[in-house]
Amino acid sequence: EEKTTILDGAGVKRALTRIAHEILERNKGVDDLVLVGIRTGGVHLARELSARLEEIEGAKVPVGEVDITLYRDDFKGQAPHLPVGKTDIPFVIEKMKVVLVDDVLFTGRTIRAAMDAIMDHGRPDCIQLAVLIDRGHRELPIRADFVGRNVPTSMREKIVVLFDADSRPTEVVLEK
Ligand code: 5GP
Ligand code: MG
Repeated sequence: EEKTTILDGAGVKRALTRIAHEILERNKGVDDLVLVGIRTGGVHLARELSARLEEIEGAKVPVGEVDITLYRDDFKGQAPHLPVGKTDIPFVIEKMKVVLVDDVLFTGRTIRAAMDAIMDHGRPDCIQLAVLIDRGHRELPIRADFVGRNVPTSMREKIVVLFDADSRPTEVVLEK
């Protein structure tokens, strides 16, 4: 088994800081901005991004959560086509700019399900997507607005995003 470091601790920090700046530039600040992380890695990253945004802009950006583990349209062993995931979004989504956050973007099916879950909550002004790693192999017409690193992978490879005990990202590794 072969392991390659894609991002070390400093690399992850820089990528998230850059993404925070890109989010601010695209949205002209944090007014009406909310983050929704996809459990579990996406939620940790959404909290990190929220902390960066607060450091830069001095304003808090709320973080919601969506869990779509059992709701992917190709989930085996469950009824197919369950439309939405379990959400914990304790704020109004109506007319907000939502930035969905996940650790790894692959086929796009998770994001599709997450968008369904969010739209069930209300009608956001828009939904944008931030991911730490885009590993390719899309099966749906979905792309990220903000990407930490594009990593072309084979189907057999796997991205491992490591977090410390405080759920802060520490490293990204490619495993063969
Ligand atoms: P998709 O739905 O786009 O096929 O897969 C994305 C979801 O599966 C993300 O929530 C992500 O956490 C997980 N995932 C897919 N591939 C990988 C991978 O190589 N490494 C990690 N850590 N997660 C992955
Ligand atoms: Mg995930």
